[in-house]
Amino acid sequence: MTIQELRQELSTFARRILAEKLVTGAGGNLSARHENRMLISPSGFSLEDVAPEQYTDVDIESGEITPGALRPSSEVLMHLACYRKRQDIRSVIHTHAPYTIALTSSGHDLRPMFADSIIYLGRRVPHLDYITVTTPELAAAVERVIPDCDCMILRNHGVITVGGNLKQAFWRACSVEESARIQLLATLVGTPRFLDENEADRLESLASEKYRRQLLAHMKGIQAPCGDDGKDGE
Ligand SMILES: [Zn+2]
Repeated sequence: MTIQELRQELSTFARRILAEKLVTGAGGNLSARHENRMLISPSGFSLEDVAPEQYTDVDIESGEITPGALRPSSEVLMHLACYRKRQDIRSVIHTHAPYTIALTSSGHDLRPMFADSIIYLGRRVPHLDYITVTTPELAAAVERVIPDCDCMILRNHGVITVGGNLKQAFWRACSVEESARIQLLATLVGTPRFLDENEADRLESLASEKYRRQLLAHMKGIQAPCGDDGKDGE
């Protein structure tokens, strides 16, 4: 993919993030790796207002911004931490997903209630306690957790998902929010029943789910999901 095509793709997924109501106003940001650089949404823009050529070009190793580019998202350190820590990460999406924030900021952990949650997000999504946004401390916390997961919750803040491409990171972002929405609704009307480790084992051994994972892995531009050794492809 050329860098121009990647800029276009960032713009497309920015609109999809907004359409899914995963961010509001100038909240949230997204980025993608291109060789040894990343393209990230600029600071202070609503994602719908960012033109493809306005994504800011940043050197991943040095953090140096291409001269003349717009100021990058204030969460630039968080994105850099992900790319520096894992070479397989080619996209990072940070949302302020409302159901996820509501659920996880009120004492609940997001837990698997249904098959898709385990297949796409893994058995356990890490939850980071609140750290002031945009700070090096937050980036350092993300750096510690990202080696072992493809999605994490930032309590009282939002969600980070990563992927081998933008589609995968976006899909995970949607899955987190959908899972949180269902868990929150279940909590309102009764006591949710969660899938335990035994059920997760059984689920993962089901032929139909194996087929599903293989199908996902072979779909154009999509790798095997979380928990299925999805970290080794590019
Ligand atoms: Zn944020």
